[in-house]
Amino acid sequence: MHYLIISDVHANLTALEAVLADAPEFDEIWCLGDLVGYGPNPNECIERIQDFSHVSMAGNHDWAALGKLDLSSFNTDARDASIWTQAELSPAAREYLNELPIQIEKDGFNMAHASPREPIWEYILDANQAYANFEHFSASICLVGHTHIPIVFELDEQRRRCETKIPPFANLLEFDQTRMIINPGSVGQPRDGDPRASYAMLDLDAMTWEFHRVAYPVEITQERMRARGLPRRLVERLEMGR
Ligand code: ZN
Repeated sequence: MHYLIISDVHANLTALEAVLADAPEFDEIWCLGDLVGYGPNPNECIERIQDFSHVSMAGNHDWAALGKLDLSSFNTDARDASIWTQAELSPAAREYLNELPIQIEKDGFNMAHASPREPIWEYILDANQAYANFEHFSASICLVGHTHIPIVFELDEQRRRCETKIPPFANLLEFDQTRMIINPGSVGQPRDGDPRASYAMLDLDAMTWEFHRVAYPVEITQERMRARGLPRRLVERLEMGR
Protein backbone atom coordinates (compact mmCIF):
# COMPACT_ATOMS: atom_id res chain seq x y z
CA MET A 1 0.00 0.00 0.00
CA HIS A 2 1.12 3.50 -0.88
CA TYR A 3 -0.14 6.45 1.12
CA LEU A 4 -0.09 10.12 0.27
CA ILE A 5 0.55 11.97 3.54
CA ILE A 6 -0.59 15.58 3.71
CA SER A 7 -1.25 18.14 6.41
CA ASP A 8 -2.24 21.79 6.85
CA VAL A 9 -3.87 22.28 3.45
CA HIS A 10 -5.48 25.43 4.87
CA ALA A 11 -8.08 25.88 2.15
CA ASN A 12 -5.39 26.30 -0.50
CA LEU A 13 -7.00 24.36 -3.35
CA THR A 14 -4.34 25.37 -5.89
CA ALA A 15 -1.61 23.85 -3.72
CA LEU A 16 -3.70 20.74 -3.03
CA GLU A 17 -4.27 20.18 -6.76
CA ALA A 18 -0.53 20.55 -7.42
CA VAL A 19 0.22 17.87 -4.81
CA LEU A 20 -2.41 15.50 -6.21
CA ALA A 21 -0.97 15.93 -9.72
CA ASP A 22 2.64 15.54 -8.57
CA ALA A 23 2.27 12.58 -6.20
CA PRO A 24 3.27 9.11 -7.40
CA GLU A 25 0.42 6.60 -7.49
CA PHE A 26 -1.23 6.06 -4.10
CA ASP A 27 -4.00 3.96 -2.57
CA GLU A 28 -5.16 6.31 0.12
CA ILE A 29 -4.65 9.79 1.57
CA TRP A 30 -3.83 10.40 5.23
CA CYS A 31 -4.55 14.01 6.10
CA LEU A 32 -3.22 15.25 9.45
CA GLY A 33 -5.62 18.14 9.96
CA ASP A 34 -6.22 21.83 9.24
CA LEU A 35 -7.93 21.35 5.91
CA VAL A 36 -9.39 24.84 6.38
CA GLY A 37 -8.45 28.22 7.87
CA TYR A 38 -6.27 30.98 6.33
CA GLY A 39 -7.01 30.13 2.68
CA PRO A 40 -9.71 30.97 0.13
CA ASN A 41 -11.25 27.56 -0.77
CA PRO A 42 -12.36 25.65 2.36
CA ASN A 43 -15.42 23.95 0.85
CA GLU A 44 -13.59 22.98 -2.33
CA CYS A 45 -10.69 21.40 -0.41
CA ILE A 46 -13.09 19.34 1.70
CA GLU A 47 -14.96 18.22 -1.41
CA ARG A 48 -11.74 17.37 -3.25
CA ILE A 49 -10.30 15.13 -0.55
CA GLN A 50 -13.54 13.18 -0.53
CA ASP A 51 -12.83 12.11 -4.13
CA PHE A 52 -10.28 9.74 -2.57
CA SER A 53 -10.20 6.97 -0.03
CA HIS A 54 -8.80 8.81 2.96
CA VAL A 55 -8.53 9.36 6.69
CA SER A 56 -8.47 12.84 8.11
CA MET A 57 -7.68 14.31 11.55
CA ALA A 58 -9.20 17.36 13.20
CA GLY A 59 -6.88 20.37 13.54
CA ASN A 60 -7.16 23.53 15.60
CA HIS A 61 -8.27 25.56 12.56
CA ASP A 62 -10.90 22.97 11.68
CA TRP A 63 -12.30 23.31 15.20
CA ALA A 64 -12.08 27.09 15.04
CA ALA A 65 -14.10 27.07 11.82
CA LEU A 66 -16.80 25.10 13.66
CA GLY A 67 -16.83 27.47 16.62
CA LYS A 68 -15.42 24.68 18.83
CA LEU A 69 -12.46 26.82 19.94
CA ASP A 70 -12.15 30.12 21.71
CA LEU A 71 -10.72 32.41 19.02
CA SER A 72 -8.99 34.61 21.59
CA SER A 73 -6.08 32.15 21.45
CA PHE A 74 -5.55 33.08 17.75
CA ASN A 75 -3.66 36.12 16.51
CA THR A 76 -5.71 38.82 14.75
CA ASP A 77 -5.09 37.55 11.21
CA ALA A 78 -5.89 33.95 12.10
CA ARG A 79 -9.02 35.09 13.91
CA ASP A 80 -10.23 37.23 10.99
CA ALA A 81 -9.60 34.36 8.55
CA SER A 82 -11.40 31.98 10.89
CA ILE A 83 -14.46 34.21 11.14
CA TRP A 84 -14.53 34.42 7.34
CA THR A 85 -14.24 30.60 7.12
CA GLN A 86 -17.07 30.09 9.62
CA ALA A 87 -19.41 32.12 7.40
CA GLU A 88 -18.17 30.48 4.20
CA LEU A 89 -18.47 26.79 5.17
CA SER A 90 -21.32 24.84 3.57
CA PRO A 91 -23.52 22.66 5.79
CA ALA A 92 -21.92 19.56 4.24
CA ALA A 93 -18.41 20.88 4.96
CA ARG A 94 -19.35 21.64 8.57
CA GLU A 95 -20.69 18.15 9.00
CA TYR A 96 -17.52 16.65 7.52
CA LEU A 97 -15.26 18.65 9.85
CA ASN A 98 -17.44 17.95 12.85
CA GLU A 99 -16.94 14.21 12.48
CA LEU A 100 -13.15 14.22 12.27
CA PRO A 101 -11.29 12.33 15.02
CA ILE A 102 -8.51 14.01 17.00
CA GLN A 103 -6.26 10.95 17.14
CA ILE A 104 -6.24 7.51 15.55
CA GLU A 105 -4.01 4.49 15.09
CA LYS A 106 -3.93 2.85 11.67
CA ASP A 107 -1.63 0.21 10.17
CA GLY A 108 0.73 0.64 13.12
CA PHE A 109 0.90 4.44 12.83
CA ASN A 110 -0.42 6.88 15.38
CA MET A 111 -1.81 10.11 13.92
CA ALA A 112 -2.74 13.44 15.47
CA HIS A 113 -2.74 16.99 14.16
CA ALA A 114 -0.53 18.57 16.81
CA SER A 115 1.01 15.98 19.16
CA PRO A 116 0.10 12.65 20.77
CA ARG A 117 0.09 14.41 24.14
CA GLU A 118 -2.16 17.31 23.07
CA PRO A 119 -3.68 16.38 19.69
CA ILE A 120 -5.12 19.80 18.90
CA TRP A 121 -2.69 22.28 20.43
CA GLU A 122 0.93 21.38 21.13
CA TYR A 123 3.60 22.51 18.66
CA ILE A 124 6.42 19.94 18.51
CA LEU A 125 9.20 22.31 17.54
CA ASP A 126 12.28 20.76 19.10
CA ALA A 127 13.86 17.48 20.15
CA ASN A 128 13.04 17.91 23.87
CA GLN A 129 9.37 18.38 23.19
CA ALA A 130 9.37 15.46 20.80
CA TYR A 131 11.12 13.27 23.40
CA ALA A 132 8.46 14.03 26.00
CA ASN A 133 5.75 12.88 23.61
CA PHE A 134 6.97 9.33 23.02
CA GLU A 135 5.35 8.01 26.18
CA HIS A 136 1.98 9.27 24.95
CA PHE A 137 1.60 6.79 22.08
CA SER A 138 2.27 3.09 21.77
CA ALA A 139 2.76 2.70 18.01
CA SER A 140 6.27 2.75 16.62
CA ILE A 141 5.68 5.91 14.61
CA CYS A 142 3.50 8.96 15.12
CA LEU A 143 2.58 11.34 12.29
CA VAL A 144 1.80 14.96 13.13
CA GLY A 145 1.36 18.32 11.37
CA HIS A 146 0.58 21.71 12.92
CA THR A 147 4.03 23.38 12.81
CA HIS A 148 4.04 23.46 8.96
CA ILE A 149 7.69 22.32 9.05
CA PRO A 150 8.76 18.97 7.58
CA ILE A 151 10.91 17.14 10.13
CA VAL A 152 11.75 13.76 11.67
CA PHE A 153 12.41 13.14 15.36
CA GLU A 154 14.07 9.77 16.04
CA LEU A 155 13.99 8.39 19.56
CA ASP A 156 17.33 7.26 20.98
CA GLU A 157 16.10 5.19 23.91
CA GLN A 158 19.52 4.46 25.36
CA ARG A 159 20.66 8.07 25.47
CA ARG A 160 17.17 9.27 26.43
CA ARG A 161 17.00 11.87 23.74
CA CYS A 162 15.80 12.57 20.20
CA GLU A 163 17.75 12.96 17.01
CA THR A 164 16.39 15.57 14.60
CA LYS A 165 16.47 15.15 10.82
CA ILE A 166 15.43 17.94 8.51
CA PRO A 167 14.75 17.24 4.83
CA PRO A 168 15.93 17.13 2.16
CA PHE A 169 17.88 13.93 2.78
CA ALA A 170 19.92 12.11 0.20
CA ASN A 171 18.00 8.90 0.76
CA LEU A 172 14.62 7.52 1.54
CA LEU A 173 13.84 7.23 5.22
CA GLU A 174 13.71 3.51 5.99
CA PHE A 175 11.75 2.32 8.99
CA ASP A 176 13.45 -0.18 11.26
CA GLN A 177 12.69 -0.56 14.97
CA THR A 178 13.44 3.10 15.70
CA ARG A 179 10.49 5.02 17.07
CA MET A 180 9.83 8.32 15.32
CA ILE A 181 7.60 11.36 15.22
CA ILE A 182 7.35 12.66 11.64
CA ASN A 183 5.82 15.81 10.19
CA PRO A 184 5.24 15.94 6.40
CA GLY A 185 5.15 19.76 6.36
CA SER A 186 2.30 21.88 5.04
CA VAL A 187 0.56 21.72 1.67
CA GLY A 188 -1.09 25.10 1.80
CA GLN A 189 1.08 27.36 3.97
CA PRO A 190 4.71 26.14 4.31
CA ARG A 191 6.75 27.88 7.02
CA ASP A 192 10.28 26.56 6.47
CA GLY A 193 11.32 29.25 4.01
CA ASP A 194 10.37 27.20 0.94
CA PRO A 195 7.02 28.28 -0.55
CA ARG A 196 6.49 25.03 -2.44
CA ALA A 197 3.78 22.68 -1.19
CA SER A 198 5.15 19.96 1.09
CA TYR A 199 3.91 16.36 1.30
CA ALA A 200 5.22 12.82 1.79
CA MET A 201 4.81 9.35 0.38
CA LEU A 202 4.64 6.34 2.70
CA ASP A 203 5.25 2.90 1.21
CA LEU A 204 3.95 0.33 3.66
CA ASP A 205 5.37 -2.67 1.78
CA ALA A 206 8.91 -1.33 1.59
CA MET A 207 8.43 0.55 4.91
CA THR A 208 9.87 3.76 3.51
CA TRP A 209 9.00 7.42 3.76
CA GLU A 210 9.90 10.11 1.24
CA PHE A 211 9.46 13.89 1.55
CA HIS A 212 8.35 15.78 -1.57
CA ARG A 213 8.01 19.44 -2.59
CA VAL A 214 6.07 20.80 -5.54
CA ALA A 215 5.77 24.37 -6.80
CA TYR A 216 2.26 25.68 -7.40
CA PRO A 217 0.94 29.00 -8.77
CA VAL A 218 1.00 30.91 -5.47
CA GLU A 219 -0.36 34.02 -7.21
CA ILE A 220 -3.67 32.28 -7.96
CA THR A 221 -4.25 31.55 -4.28
CA GLN A 222 -3.15 35.08 -3.37
CA GLU A 223 -5.57 36.60 -5.91
CA ARG A 224 -8.45 34.56 -4.49
CA MET A 225 -7.53 35.62 -0.94
CA ARG A 226 -7.51 39.29 -1.93
CA ALA A 227 -10.87 38.90 -3.68
CA ARG A 228 -12.32 37.49 -0.46
CA GLY A 229 -10.83 40.21 1.72
CA LEU A 230 -8.58 37.84 3.71
CA PRO A 231 -5.80 39.48 5.78
CA ARG A 232 -2.91 40.92 3.76
CA ARG A 233 -0.19 39.37 5.90
CA LEU A 234 -1.64 35.90 5.22
CA VAL A 235 -1.63 36.64 1.48
CA GLU A 236 1.99 37.81 1.50
CA ARG A 237 3.48 35.04 3.62
CA LEU A 238 2.58 32.38 1.03
CA GLU A 239 5.24 33.56 -1.46
CA MET A 240 7.90 33.57 1.29
CA GLY A 241 7.04 30.21 2.79
CA ARG A 242 7.12 31.81 6.25
ZN1 ZN B 1 -2.00 24.56 10.42
